[in-house]
Amino acid sequence: MPEHDSSAPAHQGFATRAIHDGQAPDPLTGAVTVPIHPSSTFAQDGVGGTRSGYEYARSGNPTRRALEVCLASLEGGARGIAFASGLAAEDAIVRTLCRPGSHVVVPDDAYGGTFRLLARVHGEWGVEVTPVALNDLAAVTAAVRPGSTTIVWVETPTNPLLGVADIAAIAQVAHRAGAVLVVDNTFASPYLQQPIALGADVVIHSTTKYAGGHSDVVGGAVVTAVDDLGERIAYLQNAAGAVPGPFDCWLVLRGLKTLALRMERHSDNAAAIARRLATEPAVSRVHYPGLSTDPGHEIASRQMRRFGGMVSFQLEAGPAAAAAFCAATRVFTLAESLGGVESLVEQPAAMTHVSVAGSPLEVPGNLVRLSVGIEDIADLLADVERGLVAARAVEPAVHDRSSGHVTR
Ligand SMILES: *Cc1c(COP(=O)(O)O)cnc(C)c1O
Repeated sequence: MPEHDSSAPAHQGFATRAIHDGQAPDPLTGAVTVPIHPSSTFAQDGVGGTRSGYEYARSGNPTRRALEVCLASLEGGARGIAFASGLAAEDAIVRTLCRPGSHVVVPDDAYGGTFRLLARVHGEWGVEVTPVALNDLAAVTAAVRPGSTTIVWVETPTNPLLGVADIAAIAQVAHRAGAVLVVDNTFASPYLQQPIALGADVVIHSTTKYAGGHSDVVGGAVVTAVDDLGERIAYLQNAAGAVPGPFDCWLVLRGLKTLALRMERHSDNAAAIARRLATEPAVSRVHYPGLSTDPGHEIASRQMRRFGGMVSFQLEAGPAAAAAFCAATRVFTLAESLGGVESLVEQPAAMTHVSVAGSPLEVPGNLVRLSVGIEDIADLLADVERGLVAARAVEPAVHDRSSGHVTR
């Protein structure tokens, strides 16, 4: 497979690599942006005589290749492999590494779709899943079974509770047991956190979120620390075929160019909103690793550049107050997904995390999740006030304060 020459050496900064790596001007035309190559097949000069290694677009496509090179550079990995969605990327990892009887340790507050894929889909093929609180190293060590645990799956910060896991410490536990450490880096993005430098073997992304950054594409990616594992996952990318189209790859590549700027602004805005929510009596708990009172703050400060754009909080008066907050905002759009330039609000228990209801990963009904965008902070803060006014008007539900779970 041809490499797009990287015009930026590895020692260059993040923003420079995001704009240049894998994206040298087109040798034929000088086009400064990577062309979108829709061709499904590539002419050969005599049988087997490919011009630059491309034969058929499921196996390889120049636009996709540019994205894969750029993502590998940004994560500090050996190999990037792009997929049609974050879950397709996860599926490829699990099917590459696991066999019937394999055991996987997952966060007990993992993204609901990850848990559904592992427990319900791969569970049917004999993969066993143990959910564990990743902020409890003793519990992680106890859950890992040397010799049979194939993957220790880390998500940090988690969706939607913003739980923080110590990547370097869990890498040691995983490696001692012979397991591969996979880190879902979707919430932080490679700008804020680089798991491979902390000991991860594999990083996955839903590029739908911050990497793409404009809520206009669904995509996923795997980056591996070493070439060998990357080769095995790339084999499945071609053999199973969950590849992204060239236009989708181009959109993600375009998004990556501004990732550093966007993450700075997302972090500024989210920090201001988290600080405001922390002073609000109607809010029983704010989940944001940037708050010095957050249980994940110390570890997050060590392994993240800043704390990102996601903030969750629980309303004292229960799920009806959460729903009222979500219904009242005007700048924050009520919608699933996250990581785009525009602010979004949702109630996970009723929306993104319905699939984990009744499982160990069930999320509190009174939780509101904000994907804080890059709009003007004054407008966002005013909108949060609008939501809080509506939430305060709701009669409190009878509930168990210790867990935040409402008892009906
Ligand atoms: C959205 C998301 C996924 C799944 O990605 P898709 O692109 O929707 O398939 C995985 N992990 C996290 C943390 C997510 O937020």
